[in-house]
Amino acid sequence: SALLEIRNLKKTYTDGTTALQGVDFKVNRGEFVVIIGSSGAGKSTLLRCINQLVQPSEGAVLFNNVDTTKASSSQVRKLRREVGMIFQSFNLIERVSVLRNVLNGRLGYMNPITGTLGLFSKRDVAEAKKILLRLGLNQQIYKRADELSGGQQQRVGIARALSQQPMLILADEPIASLDPLTSESIMNHLHSICREDGITCIVNLHQVDVAKKYATRIIGIHKGTVAFDGRPDELSEEI
Ligand code: ADP
Ligand code: ADP
Repeated sequence: SALLEIRNLKKTYTDGTTALQGVDFKVNRGEFVVIIGSSGAGKSTLLRCINQLVQPSEGAVLFNNVDTTKASSSQVRKLRREVGMIFQSFNLIERVSVLRNVLNGRLGYMNPITGTLGLFSKRDVAEAKKILLRLGLNQQIYKRADELSGGQQQRVGIARALSQQPMLILADEPIASLDPLTSESIMNHLHSICREDGITCIVNLHQVDVAKKYATRIIGIHKGTVAFDGRPDELSEEI
């Protein structure tokens, strides 16, 4: 069965803005899905509904056959451990080390008690270092996050998500603030995580050319509805 199933998803914010007006799709394990759409189309809201950062107004989000919109708070915590998030603005803790940022991912969403005390096992630290090495960040392990370039910070974001050992990675405009060359490197890392680790990826982008290069499937969102859902080669070149 599908890893993720979105059924008739609708979201109207409290100020009356409708961001999603009936979205349906399923995602199977191992897919690399790129969601494209212009600014304000509803892509970010969609990812936030999947991760329960936003409560949908209507519809269902089934993750591993569990309806997350009806999940208990302990089920939501479990869901968030299984879903890694990557953000446009990286969302690192700027004043702490790269290693510490990655270990925070190991805690899933940071456990305020053990996180504050810095209680990590030697195995956790070894695993975090291994992930950082894979992302080419072995020289940056003990640097403060805010000493790094944008591309390096996003690689830390990927490392943090990986350290959760997630089933699904959701990336919200992960390359929007990076130059083209750095963007390629970030997309290549995401692609290899999907292919080699079998982690399903859903990536929000607004660049159609990048989407076509990396996606196994493209979902186009327009004004809160699905306007396209298919293989990259099925997408018209015409605008
Ligand atoms: P995208 O990620 O495609 O740019 P968003 O999901 O961020 O789209 O936004 C979809 C619509 O919902 C936009 O009109 C946006 O202004 C609005 N929106 C997003 N977040 C909020 C919020 N917290 N409160 C009210 N409106 C919001
Ligand atoms: P980004 O481009 O990084 O997604 P946005 O400027 O779209 O950032 O949104 C930043 C924050 O403001 C988000 O938490 C979003 O939900 C919220 N937001 C976006 N649009 C609106 C809106 N029209 N009204 C209220 N909050 C909004």
